[in-house]
Amino acid sequence: AKEQGRNKYRFYNSEMDRTYLRKMVLEKELRKAINHEELMVYYQPQIDLVSRKLVGVEALLRWNHPELGDVSPVEFIPLAEETGLIVGLGEWVLREACKQLKQWQLCGFSPIRVAVNISLRQFYESNLVESIARIVNETGIPFQHLDLEITESVAMHDTSHVIDKLDQLKRLGLSISMDDFGTGYSSLSYLKKLPIDKLKIDRSFLVDVTNDKDNAAIVTTIIAMAKNLDLRVVAEGVENDQQLQLIIEEGCHEAQGYLFGRPMPEQEIRKQLTK
Ligand code: C2E
Ligand code: CA
Ligand code: CA
Ligand code: CA
Repeated sequence: AKEQGRNKYRFYNSEMDRTYLRKMVLEKELRKAINHEELMVYYQPQIDLVSRKLVGVEALLRWNHPELGDVSPVEFIPLAEETGLIVGLGEWVLREACKQLKQWQLCGFSPIRVAVNISLRQFYESNLVESIARIVNETGIPFQHLDLEITESVAMHDTSHVIDKLDQLKRLGLSISMDDFGTGYSSLSYLKKLPIDKLKIDRSFLVDVTNDKDNAAIVTTIIAMAKNLDLRVVAEGVENDQQLQLIIEEGCHEAQGYLFGRPMPEQEIRKQLTK
């Protein structure tokens, strides 16, 4: 038993070493990636459930490293947040997305919104409001076409500071969405205080809604609540017709998920835009 214990310990140790090493490598490579052409912005369709039209896209970062291959944002975004690299990365994504939207506009496509994810650190370490205003003005897109996605943890962090920034952003004319809704701890009264326009139901609640009564109840409840609070509501992670049917029946406004399209490069999403 002692022998086994020691082996376990050693195994645990080498696992930790490997995780640590991977993080070190990724951090170093991510710093370089920002100046090279390894990063891309993909776009995932957001569909209006009444008109059934594509009304927006979410900008999602992709990293393809020459040796490591594709690194998932699930792995490198938390790292970028820890190290502060997210501040530069976040600005880069925002600028790319705004430039892209301008391009589509110049090509004569019907206007759509672009949604960009904003991390907590960006609220503290950059002059967020000024930098967003500058980027939007430089690229020449209307503020109304930009949607910022924040998570509950951002909104919960330091309420007055975050609310103040959100108010300033809203005054510019852009809209704010609460991402991954239902996974954090925000209370309903708190939700009312936040200057948000939209709730995005976390995709974990969409899983197996036909058999999982609890999940179906949560989805139904969030949609009803959002509507009562005069918020728009978006279902994330819609992969099949059963899920689509449920959210349509409940009056959900928009949907996003593999059923309508995965995140894709510009050349692909362009084919779904209309004139
Ligand atoms: P998120 O903001 O919740 O983005 C939605 C994620 O769900 C994306 O994962 C998307 O590919 C995935 N997804 C969309 N539809 C479906 C579906 O029908 N089924 C399933 N199984 N998954 C679906 P992705 O692109 O891997 O991004 C993961 C997370 O990384 C994002 O979650 C977001 O939190 C973060 N992230 C990505 N890009 C950025 C960025 O530019 N800035 C910041 N701050 N975070 C980012
Ligand atoms: Ca998001
Ligand atoms: Ca989400
Ligand atoms: Ca998520």
